[in-house]
Amino acid sequence: MSNNDEKPRDASPEEDVLGDTSVLVSREVPAGVDRRGFLIRSAVGGAAAVLTGCSVSDADRTAKAVATTPAQAPAASAPPLSADLNVVKKGQGPVLTTVDEFYKVGPGPSSSHTIGPMRITYDFYQRAAKLPADTLAKATKLQVNLFGSLSATGKGHGTERAALAGLIGKEPATVDPLFLDSLRDKPDQVFPVKLGNKSIDVSLKDVIYDATKGDFKHPNTMTVKLLAGNDVLLEQEYYSVGGGFIEWKGYEPPKKNAPKYPFRLMKELRGHADTNKTTIAKIMMANETSISGKSEAEVNAFLDKIANAMIATVKSGLSMSEDDVLPGPIKLHSKAATVYKRAMDDKFQSDRGIGVLSAFALAASEENGRGHLVITAPTGGSAGVMPALVYALSEVRKVPREKIREGLLAAAGVGYLCKHHATLSAAEGGCQAEIGVASSMAAALTATAYDAPSQVVENAAESALEHHLGMTCDPVAGYVQVPCIERCAFGAVKAWTAYAIASNEIASRHRVDFYATVAALAETAKDMNSKYKETSEAGLAQSVTLC
Ligand code: SF4
Repeated sequence: MSNNDEKPRDASPEEDVLGDTSVLVSREVPAGVDRRGFLIRSAVGGAAAVLTGCSVSDADRTAKAVATTPAQAPAASAPPLSADLNVVKKGQGPVLTTVDEFYKVGPGPSSSHTIGPMRITYDFYQRAAKLPADTLAKATKLQVNLFGSLSATGKGHGTERAALAGLIGKEPATVDPLFLDSLRDKPDQVFPVKLGNKSIDVSLKDVIYDATKGDFKHPNTMTVKLLAGNDVLLEQEYYSVGGGFIEWKGYEPPKKNAPKYPFRLMKELRGHADTNKTTIAKIMMANETSISGKSEAEVNAFLDKIANAMIATVKSGLSMSEDDVLPGPIKLHSKAATVYKRAMDDKFQSDRGIGVLSAFALAASEENGRGHLVITAPTGGSAGVMPALVYALSEVRKVPREKIREGLLAAAGVGYLCKHHATLSAAEGGCQAEIGVASSMAAALTATAYDAPSQVVENAAESALEHHLGMTCDPVAGYVQVPCIERCAFGAVKAWTAYAIASNEIASRHRVDFYATVAALAETAKDMNSKYKETSEAGLAQSVTLC
């Protein structure tokens, strides 16, 4: 644990635009006040209470409280889950995801509807290019068919443009968003795709919005075919399973090295940290290097790239004109710059804190709505949440980069566990799986950046996720704008609130463990009416009238 004197929050709270609420937040549980009362007092400061500027660190306060509080009986464990539940099947074996698979840079507005489909068609393009020359000589056409949610809301997400871009050999991390804009502005453009000696012309007409309902293996299903007239030379069925991750029929996960500290549950991850007297972030780093074979320096370089890209999206969003209107039929005015400017004029520092944090999230999320490059953390729709916290901690609080890297690692651990046991896909689980997971990750990031003990990191992540359970996905007109953009701001503020509560409550008394909430996420996802899973058939998508 670092020296508390190094903590940015201890310095110059008066100058901190994110607010000084130290007078509002209890340092200790007052005598005669019950836990609920204490939590309410802690929560009064809300999101702004996070950056208290108090002279005693959260780590010290929590450690002291834990040490002086009688041990509590452990919480009753969650009821056993049936072996045939998806949550159980998916959760077997240790987590093997790595940061470069998880944090992906790509064009908005949706990791499952833009980055995933672009990766899919790019994958097919590479497979087709390897076919024998005599097979390729017969080819006449490439065709993409979109099904399920990809078909229902793909138009609003620009799925056909992303699919076409992948087919002509463009990758999400390096595609110029202006190229995708040009496909929108000039939809009749035709592009030659070179496959061996053969050249096949493709256009948006080759991407077909097919059946929205059917017996699909995943709600985000698509097929890609190479045809010779009516004959199929190569066909592959793919699934965009959330967060830009893709699978295909017969998919086998790649073989990976064993993690140094295997875990499939948060309590195991935390157990490794506590047993080894280290942090969740350090355990995550050890696993990253053992699974991927990369050095710590390489992992850190990647994390810096992600942190810089997150900061860039916030800056870019804040720099947009206050009169900017986002693409699509909603004609939604950008508001990040206006909210930021006006929040900075707020009389109370706490109001300023909530306002500017919201503005940071709005800025990155509006960039996503524009189809500009964003970072999946864990998805495009939720791409405003983590950048808001990274920007606030890094650019406003001046938290050292090393702590931001550690925060990104801990946040990734939270995201991996949600993916492992539940889902990151709104088409599978509604918005709780996107903004909920993003908020949970951001709470872990914040706690880690402030050197909170591992139990506080878990509690903060749990709390943020818990208070998104049941949240549905109902984007108006199929565009990732309403409610998505403001929802990112709420996800960021809730992350901060979760950290505020977790770092001020008595950590050992936190009643709900992280796995219980992830299991609830998975079960709620299973039970949620499919109308609320990225189909735009219900909720706000139905009640909001566009003129
Ligand atoms: S409502 Fe939530 S899950 Fe649905 S598109 Fe918007 S941000 Fe994504």
